[in-house]
Amino acid sequence: MKAMVLKQTSSVEEKPLELVHLPTPIPDIKQILVKVYACGVCHTELDEIEGRVSPSRFPMILGHEIVGKVERLGPGATKFKEGDRVGIAWINWACGKCSFCLKDEENLCTEAKWTGKDANGGYAQYTVVSEDFAYPIPDRFSDLEAAPLLCAGVVGYRALRLTGMGDGQVLGLYGFGASAHIIIQVAKYKYPHGKVFVFTRPNQVEHQSLARKLGADWIGATGDSSPEKLNCAIDFTPVGVPVREALRNLEKGGRVVINAIRKTTPIPELDYTEHLWHEKEVKSVANVTRRDAQEFLPLAAEIPIVPETQEFRLEEANEALVLLKEGKIRGAGVLRIAT
Ligand SMILES: [Zn+2]
Ligand SMILES: [Zn+2]
Repeated sequence: MKAMVLKQTSSVEEKPLELVHLPTPIPDIKQILVKVYACGVCHTELDEIEGRVSPSRFPMILGHEIVGKVERLGPGATKFKEGDRVGIAWINWACGKCSFCLKDEENLCTEAKWTGKDANGGYAQYTVVSEDFAYPIPDRFSDLEAAPLLCAGVVGYRALRLTGMGDGQVLGLYGFGASAHIIIQVAKYKYPHGKVFVFTRPNQVEHQSLARKLGADWIGATGDSSPEKLNCAIDFTPVGVPVREALRNLEKGGRVVINAIRKTTPIPELDYTEHLWHEKEVKSVANVTRRDAQEFLPLAAEIPIVPETQEFRLEEANEALVLLKEGKIRGAGVLRIAT
């Protein structure tokens, strides 16, 4: 099979993913072999390539927003049949026994494996996964549309849930890429009397026009004061400043949720009185649970979410990642691997 592999840490601009031919993997006990049709391109790949999040071995096949069809069942696998369309997300395996797993926090499992980091992912024609960590994809979505739902959508859904937002409240979104453009649609559906304010980099006119089209109630630049205080906010950006900015615009008792694995620049010093007092909270999002995916995918079909995608070929993965790093992808970037 063809695969784009990462052999060592590098800067994204050096286009380090290499096209190689590898043997098609063989599904182990209770695993399924999946023929990959589409795989989304995520910020986490930038972190992995540049060494802020380390793959557990090299070479590694990145990619954790995988849509494909079951090609073959491993011994004892019974949940799917050949030809079923499935999705694979960031959570690849969890132990099921530790204190975190036992309280529905398998996203924090210390033994957990992550797709495209500890197990080969979807920048390839085939991949294998435990049948317990694959999800049926609603018919409504094309392969390309479904891919970004699996990380940008699922983790964004988790972030929105963690904000504790209620109907009638004001939500601030910092950064308007793959995840935010999905989550604004969820927020508008679940909280019809709420408002969504979007903050982008000042020059991101494409992102701003997409935000307007998707119903943002106000659009400004990071650093702007919001017209009303935010009851809650999600920071989707890879940098530190928006955390302080979200706290500055936050209403008393509000919460800022940070949806990032790593920040490329530090969070600036906070002033206790201005940024944190009055019971303001900061919470991070780490990974996802299977429940997040199982709840979100049917909800996405019901709304229905319409993901904007920009298509690339498998061989163009490096170019897609450079554009992602530059903030130049409208909606979500997706590799189309088979038709
Ligand atoms: Zn565990
Ligand atoms: Zn991701």
